[in-house]
Amino acid sequence: MTHAQNISILRHILVIALIFFDFEGYARDAVAGNVITKNLKNIAITNHKDITTATKEFQTEFKFCDINKALGLYNIVPMLIIGSGPAGLAASLYGVGGNVRTVVVHGPLPGGLLTQTTEVENWPGHALIMGEDIIEKLQNQIQGLADKYLKKQTMNLGIVDFLFDTITHIDVSSWPFKVSTDQGLTLNALSIVIATGSSHKKLHVVGENLPGVTYCAKCDAPFYKDKEVVIVGGGDSAAEDAMQLARHAQQVTILVRKNKLKASALMQMRLHEYANIKIMYNVEVQEVLGDVHEGVKAIKLIDHVENNSFVVSTDGVFVAIGHIPNSDLVKDFVKTDEHGNIELKGRSQTVVMKDEFAHVQGVFAAGDIADKLYKQAYSAGGYGVGAGIDAISFLTNIGFNPKMAHILEKNMFKV
Ligand SMILES: Cc1cc2nc3c(=O)[nH]c(=O)nc-3n(C[C@H](O)[C@H](O)[C@H](O)COP(=O)(O)OP(=O)(O)OC[C@H]3O[C@@H](n4cnc5c(N)ncnc54)[C@H](O)[C@@H]3O)c2cc1C
Repeated sequence: MTHAQNISILRHILVIALIFFDFEGYARDAVAGNVITKNLKNIAITNHKDITTATKEFQTEFKFCDINKALGLYNIVPMLIIGSGPAGLAASLYGVGGNVRTVVVHGPLPGGLLTQTTEVENWPGHALIMGEDIIEKLQNQIQGLADKYLKKQTMNLGIVDFLFDTITHIDVSSWPFKVSTDQGLTLNALSIVIATGSSHKKLHVVGENLPGVTYCAKCDAPFYKDKEVVIVGGGDSAAEDAMQLARHAQQVTILVRKNKLKASALMQMRLHEYANIKIMYNVEVQEVLGDVHEGVKAIKLIDHVENNSFVVSTDGVFVAIGHIPNSDLVKDFVKTDEHGNIELKGRSQTVVMKDEFAHVQGVFAAGDIADKLYKQAYSAGGYGVGAGIDAISFLTNIGFNPKMAHILEKNMFKV
């Protein structure tokens, strides 16, 4: 018996043992390339015939993504990551680490929202770091890993490309997915990670771009020690931000457009525990006053009950009127909630499709785009890690193994 045959027999014994102990994930990984269904644990496997049955079931499940459909296509991207914020970059780390050719599309804001802030005090491992430095370090790490892999092997599997372009359309009616870009490219993506983040709702008033108008109390509160600040908004986020700020600022004023807060009763109760938080009702921001050098100085408000305008001096304006997830690109085929956040199912990065797209697999989401709660850089990175791992696992399951990567290599997209 040859060495290869021995290995093969040992591998089958290992798989059956793992299945017996219900370690379905390990079983799948152990047979990477030999496609075994995730439903294996429901099938009593006693001999090789049963493995064949299980394999067939698996192939039915992933029929839509028959790897042979990629043959003959050009501009193939095994792992396409849309967005280069912490979520997209973290996912790409696993694409490269998983030895899969990965393309990260920067979109309208290369590096994502962190590039719009200065000092970040809650990125683990750094007492204080600039937002842009986090992104630069991540990119260097990813590129470094890809370069290391490139040196070690003859094929360019684990390479990463950063594409300065914006995705304009994704067609999931066939697989590989046809993805169009602003600059006229058509990419054939085997798997997609959507990491397009979200944008803060803006006030749309004069002065809102002045230094001192900010959207992240969690990030900027320490910079307002003993200062007077206002928060615009009446929901849970505004209440949460107020409490965050009250630990640093001397006076915090919440500006509410209606005659009551939208925040939960519990939040409202908690607010009352802070002597330095006050609430002004029935007021709407008309203008932020100040200058580009010295920043915010005051805010002009309209009182809807008294029907008059007045000015309140302040050192900072925190806007907490909600987020708009950047999900326009995918909301025709991906299920989103009433706010536009992508809904996830099962393993948290799996995207739930609308019924007519139920057969579509291989599209994952991560970061603020799918996060109703935290909207923080590190949590976005964490979700990105999960999406990267899920995408790799999907590629393995459909039979995208090193052999297939080698066959497709010459037709893969390169920047
Ligand atoms: C001023 C400010 C300060 C902040 N400070 C902190 C802080 O101190 N600590 C903290 O933890 N968090 C902070 N945050 C929040 C943090 O930045 C976000 O939670 C985090 O960036 C979310 O990461 P993400 O990868 O999900 O999305 P984003 O960082 O928003 O990245 C989204 C990416 O998607 C791309 N994109 C969008 N549409 C397309 C498209 N059609 N095609 C291709 N690409 C597309 C964008 O160009 C961008 O690269 C701050 C946010 C702001 C605005």
